[in-house]
Parts: sequence; C-alpha cells; structure tokens
Amino acid sequence: MSQPICVLCAHYHPRTETHAPDRGQTCATGRRRLEHDVMVLRSSYRRLVELQTADVTGAKDAASRKLPAAPVPAPSKQPMVSGSKARTIPLTDVADLTAGAHPGGVHDPHHDQVGHHSVATLLNEWVDRWHEHFFSYQRRPEPTLEAMTGWLLGVRLELVADADAAIADFAQEIRDMQAVIRFHLGESPRRRAPMWGVPCPRCRLMSQLMLDPEDPDRRRECASCGKLMAESEYHAYLRNLTDQYRADGKLARGSDL
Ligand SMILES: [Zn+2]
Ligand SMILES: [Zn+2]
Repeated sequence: MSQPICVLCAHYHPRTETHAPDRGQTCATGRRRLEHDVMVLRSSYRRLVELQTADVTGAKDAASRKLPAAPVPAPSKQPMVSGSKARTIPLTDVADLTAGAHPGGVHDPHHDQVGHHSVATLLNEWVDRWHEHFFSYQRRPEPTLEAMTGWLLGVRLELVADADAAIADFAQEIRDMQAVIRFHLGESPRRRAPMWGVPCPRCRLMSQLMLDPEDPDRRRECASCGKLMAESEYHAYLRNLTDQYRADGKLARGSDL
C-alpha cells in the first residue's frame, strides 16, 4: 500500500517531494494555506462589491475603467482528480461575478455548458455538499459569500480538508475565483520574489528560491527543482552559508555579514 500524502501541499507545490499528512489527508501548513486563500477571496470579493456599488452610485469613471471584459483564468496545471468537475469561470462582468447564489446552477454533467457562475453559486455548491455530508444537523448558512465563508472558516474548513477527497479541487477553485476577481479589480497577480544570490541547497542554482507572497508560512520553494524549505530551515541554511563563505574567505575581512 502506498504511503498517504498530504493532498493540499501536493496541490500547492506539485513539484516538491510529497510528505505524509499530520492528520487525515492534509498537514497543518497545507490547511493554513487553504484558510488563507479563502480569507483572501473573501476580502477581495468585498472590494469587488464596493467597486460595484461605487459604479452604480455614479462614481462611474474610476470604477468602470477598472472593468476590462472577458477575463480568462489561467488553466489549472493540476492533474484532474477522478470525479472532479472541469469548470471554467468565464465571467464577463462584475454583476455576474457578484450575483446571488443560483442553486444547482453549476450542474453540468457533460462539461459542455459555457456557464456564467457567480462566486456565490460556486461556493454554494461546496457548502451544500459539506452541509449535507458532515453538518446536516446544523443550520445551513445563508447562500451569501459573507455568510458561507464565515460558516466555513475555522473548524469546518479544517474538518472537510481531512474528510473530503475533493479538497484539492476546492483549493483550485478558490484560486481560480480569486484570479478572476483580481482581474476585475485591476490587480495583477502577486509575483513570487526570488531570493537573489542564494543557491538552492539541492540543485545549487542561484536565485531560484522563491517566496510566494500568498504563503502564510513564508516557505521558500526552488523554481528549478521544487525543493521546499520552511522559513526557519531557510534562515538556518542562510546562516550556514554565510559561515561557510566567511571560512572560505569569500567575504571581505571584517565584514559583518
Ligand atoms: Zn502538507
Ligand atoms: Zn533547486
């Protein structure tokens, strides 16, 4: 039997070596990352609603310039998990994006429908699924983005991360939605920052270790070989490197580095 792997980190860092979950099918950093992404989605959704409200109430100029047409989310590079749904979010305007949840709106067994699903509709489907399977004895949240994310964040998200095999699909959908919202907000994707002049401890290539601004754990990931380091591990590595350079005389005498 194969070892269980953390499905969230395998999703967020597909090129790195896999690791065992610390619980169920995920690890703490993977779950933290997912929670972070859901919170980011919620806050950018709020900004989008504000933008839309500003647009409606007459502050059209600044707002409407920010609304380009036809966003195309980057296609997922993840292998499709069996049974997962191939969906795109070809939304054309902010009103579509922020529309209320449309129950059953996502149902598309043949993947041939060009849908215009609002963020609330997509999230509503997940909430439906999880409410039915795990929390049916509790009150279901209102199908608004605010209520649904509030219901999910915290203990329920932790629970479904370990209980639902489709959690990586959810993680991908959150990112896709986020990409579309950012596009409408006129924000460019936040780029990963290279650690300039630092060689990767595994492949030795320079300046390939990247810091993803979306990673709440600030891990460094090699863009070349996929090596993943915890922040503390990265800092210990830097200290060692500096000591080594100093011993090799590569640093100027008297340097404090
Ligand atoms: Zn993990
Ligand atoms: Zn590397």
